[in-house]
Amino acid sequence: MEKDERQALKAKIIEMIAKYEHDVKETEKMTEPVKPENSLGRISRMDAINNKSVMEASLRNKISKLNKLRLALQKIDDPGFGTCARCKKNIQSGRLMFMPESTKCVKCAS
Ligand SMILES: [Zn+2]
Repeated sequence: MEKDERQALKAKIIEMIAKYEHDVKETEKMTEPVKPENSLGRISRMDAINNKSVMEASLRNKISKLNKLRLALQKIDDPGFGTCARCKKNIQSGRLMFMPESTKCVKCAS
């Protein structure tokens, strides 16, 4: 991986981490316990509980992505970063920009 490319990717990862950190915080707010005494009534309360489980699943996904991005940021200066774990060829830079946590090239991941 070229030095410039690595720098650009590093900036991109930092930007993505900031975005996901913000997202996680916002989603956490939406997963607060549903109050038993809800003035909205029973149906709305069931809706609120359904929404809450959707939000919790979404929160787990976001936290997992955030952890992968942080790991990618730690590894970005390693000589092997950007090399496919399977075929050892360079991972396409477009793919890395989109999914910096990729450890395999498009061919090997599919
Ligand atoms: Zn590969």
